[in-house]
Amino acid sequence: MSGDPEKPGGHSTRAVHAGEREHHESDAVTTPIHQTSTFWFKNSAELRAFQEGRTTRDEYGRYGNPTWRAVERKVCALEGAEASVLFASGMCAATTIFFALLPKDGHLIVTSDCYRRTRQFIDEYLVKLGVETTIVEPADTKKVADAIRDNTALFFTESPTNPYLRVIDVAETVEVCHARGVKVIIDGTFASPINHRPLEDGADLVIHSATKYLGGHNDLLAGVAAGSAEAIQPIRDAVGVLGGVTDANTAYLLLRGMKTLGIRMEKHNANGLALATWLEQHPKVRRVYYPGLESHPDHTTAKRIMDGYGGVVTFELETDFDGAVRFVDGCKIPYLAPSLGGVEALIEMPALMSFWDRTPEERAALGISDSLVRYSTGIEEAADLIADIEQALEAI
Ligand SMILES: *Cc1c(COP(=O)(O)O)cnc(C)c1O
Repeated sequence: MSGDPEKPGGHSTRAVHAGEREHHESDAVTTPIHQTSTFWFKNSAELRAFQEGRTTRDEYGRYGNPTWRAVERKVCALEGAEASVLFASGMCAATTIFFALLPKDGHLIVTSDCYRRTRQFIDEYLVKLGVETTIVEPADTKKVADAIRDNTALFFTESPTNPYLRVIDVAETVEVCHARGVKVIIDGTFASPINHRPLEDGADLVIHSATKYLGGHNDLLAGVAAGSAEAIQPIRDAVGVLGGVTDANTAYLLLRGMKTLGIRMEKHNANGLALATWLEQHPKVRRVYYPGLESHPDHTTAKRIMDGYGGVVTFELETDFDGAVRFVDGCKIPYLAPSLGGVEALIEMPALMSFWDRTPEERAALGISDSLVRYSTGIEEAADLIADIEQALEAI
């Protein structure tokens, strides 16, 4: 613990205070919403001083805004990063980074459990740059090592992954990748910086869909990337050109949401573990995927590198597609909706929500079974969520 409110020891103190004290226009406790698209210079000499790097200040809204810079400082404090960039969405963070860091005809490695829009970006857009992609099983460092070629630029993976919550041994992966000059990018959306900080394990960049835990209230879309100042600079330059920036209002909501990240994650972690443990003993549940359970293939890694396992629980019911639909429709507390990480519990069947346009055979090939359910706990009481699930299981 230090006396500096910007660099305290505890996550929650950091979540509340970091990044907030650098606005000097007023004595407001909260960071103002700078609702402006541009910033004025008192005279040409001031403009010249700025262009020559003698002053730091804002110029035009696509390059920076004081409200979103407060978000970036808070993210840095939470991730232990030198620099971070805010984007309009998590997808925008991923696509901007790929554009910024992948050379023409370069090679990219991603995991099979990868967000499906990221896969789509790779298949439909990165191919136009001649980028080749190898897909490996998640959490298999040997497969990553085998996939590396001379022109491999990046290894990109979620940790935990969606929907099976596979956990990557980041330090081991970094060792293998850095030996061959490959950068490691971790999408830490499902962990949040409270549960895991991949930069501490040597990852080059961590990204988040801030739409999820960081924002935490199902009321905004945003993305962030964090890393060393050197790693972030080309990405900041790229976002200024590609233009996927957010607005000051959204930045303010994100700042406000992040202040409660510490206590929200405590509740998400407790709820996730309570639900997973309860579901695992239920006869109508075939299998539960949750890294906090000993039955999860990556439990040992997760226990070693994570401080909590998050609020998402994935499980397969002892029934068919229609039975799973009856279960999901029978749950009264969670909303049937995509997304995760907000205060409200959400529920979905991947076979229906994300892969409805595939045949059962195609879904099986992707490892998505028809009775798979993804439950994202909110900050409700675990006992209420469990009682609700119990009555819905009776409807199968
Ligand atoms: C939601 C999500 C994304 C995409 O983020 P958006 O903010 O919706 O653009 C990327 N990665 C993961 C793991 C996600 O859950």
